[in-house]
Amino acid sequence: MKYECDLIEDLLPLYKDGICSDTSKTAVEEHLAECEKCRDIYEKLKDETVDELMIREKEDVIGSQSKFFKRKSALAGSIIAAIFALPILICLIVDLAGGNGLGWFFIVLAAMLIPTTLIAVPLMVPENKMFTTMTSFTLSIIILLGAICLYTRGNWFFIAASSVLFGLTVCFAPFIACRRPLAGYLKNYKGLTVMGAYTVTFCIMMICIGISANAPFWPLAFAICAPLIAMVWIIFAIIRYLPVNGLAKTGLIMTVIGIISFAGNKAAEYFTLKSATAAGATVISRSSLNSAIYVATMAIGVILSVIGIAVGRIKKETDKGEEK
Ligand SMILES: [Zn+2]
Repeated sequence: MKYECDLIEDLLPLYKDGICSDTSKTAVEEHLAECEKCRDIYEKLKDETVDELMIREKEDVIGSQSKFFKRKSALAGSIIAAIFALPILICLIVDLAGGNGLGWFFIVLAAMLIPTTLIAVPLMVPENKMFTTMTSFTLSIIILLGAICLYTRGNWFFIAASSVLFGLTVCFAPFIACRRPLAGYLKNYKGLTVMGAYTVTFCIMMICIGISANAPFWPLAFAICAPLIAMVWIIFAIIRYLPVNGLAKTGLIMTVIGIISFAGNKAAEYFTLKSATAAGATVISRSSLNSAIYVATMAIGVILSVIGIAVGRIKKETDKGEEK
């Protein structure tokens, strides 16, 4: 044989795709005519190409099938929605015919929206299922609250609705932010947006509670909420943006919690003492124990962050040394 098998084996893929030079082509053909082992290898190579084609074909079939099922599920969703709509229509007719006006019918209607959003919406919406389902679920609960509140002539709607909005934002925002369509717009700002959504819905809830509250609400609410919101944001910023290692982050977070709890505790103590003294009562303070706990938390936090930062520094130095 003119050439080694190894050499021909290297050339076979090029030969198969028809991209080798004429000299190589002749060499391969001459060798294949003589060598059974290389012929086998060549046959296998050709079979693999057929396999690839088959796989592609299969994927095409699966793709068109899934499109077909998507269309079918949209149809099924519409039918289910129609089934839900039927009892609503019957209720409306019965209610109107009975001369009751629209009373409890609205509650039934609003209540039907909740299962509809959970069952029919994901089936009917071809894209952005998570986003549409979660937002419509939240809306349907708020609508139900509104209907019940109107029916019972209550004045609690805004408190209830804003609380539901905040609670469901806490549950859903991380998922919604990571899915289409929001994920595309938010890119690297998902965490920031979720935190923003928490803060905004929390403030809306506090405002709604404050408007309905009789007692002096704002100073106390502000004194409690502002440090807590600040603390959550600082912790978020430490975790998300600070370029230090996990140990240092843990330490810093403990320090922040210690400081804010300590300050908050002192402030609360001051307010309680002030109002109690105004009322003429004697107050026995328990705060020395609490303060000790916060100071200990702070101290441990500072120690951890110092160790963490030091470890990070040393690691960086050794990495640099190794690179050299
Ligand atoms: Zn050979």
